[in-house]
Amino acid sequence: AKSEGRGTCHFFESGMDATLQRRRTLETGLRDAIANCELSVLFQPLVSLKTGKIAAAEALLRWTHPKLGMIPPVEFIPIAEESGLIHQLGGWVLHQAALAAGKWPKHVGVAVNLSPVQFRQAGLLETVQGALARADLAAERLELEITESLLLEDSQANIDLLHAIRGLGVKIAMDDFGTGYSSLSYLRAFPFDKIKIDRSFMSDIATKDDSRAILRAMIGLGTSLGMVTVAEGVETEEQLAVVKAEGATLVQGYYYSPPVTASDIAAMVEAETVP
Ligand code: C2E
Ligand code: CA
Ligand code: CA
Ligand code: CA
Repeated sequence: AKSEGRGTCHFFESGMDATLQRRRTLETGLRDAIANCELSVLFQPLVSLKTGKIAAAEALLRWTHPKLGMIPPVEFIPIAEESGLIHQLGGWVLHQAALAAGKWPKHVGVAVNLSPVQFRQAGLLETVQGALARADLAAERLELEITESLLLEDSQANIDLLHAIRGLGVKIAMDDFGTGYSSLSYLRAFPFDKIKIDRSFMSDIATKDDSRAILRAMIGLGTSLGMVTVAEGVETEEQLAVVKAEGATLVQGYYYSPPVTASDIAAMVEAETVP
């Protein structure tokens, strides 16, 4: 049993090595991922529940590693954040998203996720301005999605920066609303244009009265504060019926579409306008 224990321990250690090894490989790979054209940006539509049409699309970063294949953002974004590469990556996504939206009809906006780490480096305001200018995109068509973890750190400086960005005309959305500890107090700290109700709240809204009541309360809260409300992660017709009945403004989820290419978005919007 003793030798078995040692064997298990040894096995565990090499397991740790493999995890570290992968992490190093990913971090190194990420450094050249832009130059090597391994990154791409997909877009997922946000559909108006009033008109049934696409109002905006959210930019979602994709990375295909030459050896390891598709790496999900939940794995590589934290690595980018810890290594500082997120500044380069985030700036790139912003530019790509603005360029893509520049080719869509003018009523369609674009949303970009911002990491809290991007707020720590000076020049975020200039990066946003630069992306808009280079793509010749009206500021009103850009929306930045932030999570509450941003407001946890360095609060006042970050809130000031958010106000400055918003001063450009850019909209600010609170992402993953309801998942953190302090979502409610942040609604007082900053006047968001939009709240995106996290998809974890959608799972049983069609079958559980309590879940539906929580969704209703969140939509009511956002609406009474004058914010646009988005139901994230809607996958089924039953869920769609509930978020519609409860009065959400927009819906995003596999029910309508997974993330697709920028030209797919253009084609989907085009198809809507053809009678
Ligand atoms: P998020 O901002 O909450 O993005 C929504 C995620 O939910 C996306 O995953 C999307 O593909 C997925 N999703 C959308 N509809 C459905 C649905 O109906 N069902 C399910 N199960 N999932 C759905 P994705 O693309 O894997 O991104 C994961 C997270 O990675 C994002 O969560 C965001 O936090 C982060 N991320 C992605 N791209 C970027 C980026 O460019 N910058 C930063 N900072 N973070 C990013
Ligand atoms: Ca988001
Ligand atoms: Ca989200
Ligand atoms: Ca998220």
